[in-house]
Amino acid sequence: MLVCKFGGTSMANSSTISKVADIVLADKERKYVVVSAPGKREKDDTKVTDLLYKCFDEAAECGNCSKSFAIIRTRFEEIIEGLNIDLDLSEDFEQIEKNINASVTPDYAASRGEYLAAKVLAKKIGYDFLDAAEFFKFSDERFQFHYSLDLLKTTLAEHPYAVIPGFYGSNAEGEIKTFSRGGSDISGAVVARAADARIYENWTDVNGFMSADPRIVENPANIEFLSYRELRELAYMGANVLHPESIFPVRSVGIPINIKNTFEPSHKGTMIVPDDKVSDNTNIITGIAGKKGFTIILVEKSMMNAEVGFCRKVLSVLEYENISFEHMPSGIDTLCVVVSDDLIKNKMQKVVEKVRESVNADNVELHSGISLIATVGRNMAARQGTASTLFSALAKAKINIRMIDQGSSELNIIVGVDTQDYESAINAIYYAFKG
Ligand code: ASP
Repeated sequence: MLVCKFGGTSMANSSTISKVADIVLADKERKYVVVSAPGKREKDDTKVTDLLYKCFDEAAECGNCSKSFAIIRTRFEEIIEGLNIDLDLSEDFEQIEKNINASVTPDYAASRGEYLAAKVLAKKIGYDFLDAAEFFKFSDERFQFHYSLDLLKTTLAEHPYAVIPGFYGSNAEGEIKTFSRGGSDISGAVVARAADARIYENWTDVNGFMSADPRIVENPANIEFLSYRELRELAYMGANVLHPESIFPVRSVGIPINIKNTFEPSHKGTMIVPDDKVSDNTNIITGIAGKKGFTIILVEKSMMNAEVGFCRKVLSVLEYENISFEHMPSGIDTLCVVVSDDLIKNKMQKVVEKVRESVNADNVELHSGISLIATVGRNMAARQGTASTLFSALAKAKINIRMIDQGSSELNIIVGVDTQDYESAINAIYYAFKG
């Protein structure tokens, strides 16, 4: 059987939801459907989830959220009317508004978009509605995967066809808890695992992963097959088709994830499969992804190489300041630690001083305005010339490389460049490897 998850743009209005209904009903194998809240209908629209967070803030500020909640209510009423279904959600609307006004929690407010969307789709396609709060369980803010899986298996056994809201669950006190933004992808993966799905179909508004960001490279090729490990690298580095954590529930049992396009259902999309099942191709690289907004902390000290515990002391400062780091290339007398600007921005001077003190460094400097670019490909391993192609392309484009990191898995090469060179660097790498 298939488990499918539909994202916000697929659930945006009655006509997109009709497409969702057609897709689900076209294949009897599509037994469990996980949905996001209605997303943007056009570029400048607001997602229902964002409106719900706004309701929460409004209620906290002025005691009620009637202004913003009215917009949400109208949006769902329009959807119900457009779908021509006999569904009255007024009791739900009243209860939700009352709870938000009572300032329950932001998680509760945010989760209601998925809750209502799932009720609508369930009615449209005649499937059972199941409330995710019953079986997605959290404890101390952490999702309880194995416990939830057991609860979910028992529930699914009693409901052969169901629609389940994504994004949220509940804790032992019965309070609603959400995953991080985009978390319906994780919910879908958990349902796929519980249902022992043949494939986890993740329906969105693009034809799967592309080998580079289409806003930077003109018409990049689609990626037909991706291994789980490649997906991790690309998703972490900003290819945001899928929530980076959504592979964990399915990876250990090898359920493939198929990214599909609700607006072009016949397109194959991208198939994400176990590392040993990925079909052979001759492309050296699979994709390029990148992120802006990093700072390099450069630490210099003569004879650093002979000092046992040097890195630990530097990293202890970061740990104490709650800054996780991305990369740590080192030389004989130098060490670079790459961190995200968001994490260091209000602590720059403090970090420099503390690092200097911790190792008695000769020099500590910060270099901001760095972007990281990951060139990812399972075929890079044990093959000569990949790094040479990549670096020659950057040299030819007159781009200075500020940092290089290649893991021993040889699955990716990461370079740090000045942010002003980011777009040209991605184009240079893309065209250098384009077959
Ligand atoms: N609706 C939530 C969000 O906008 C969760 C999701 O769509 O996956 O982040």
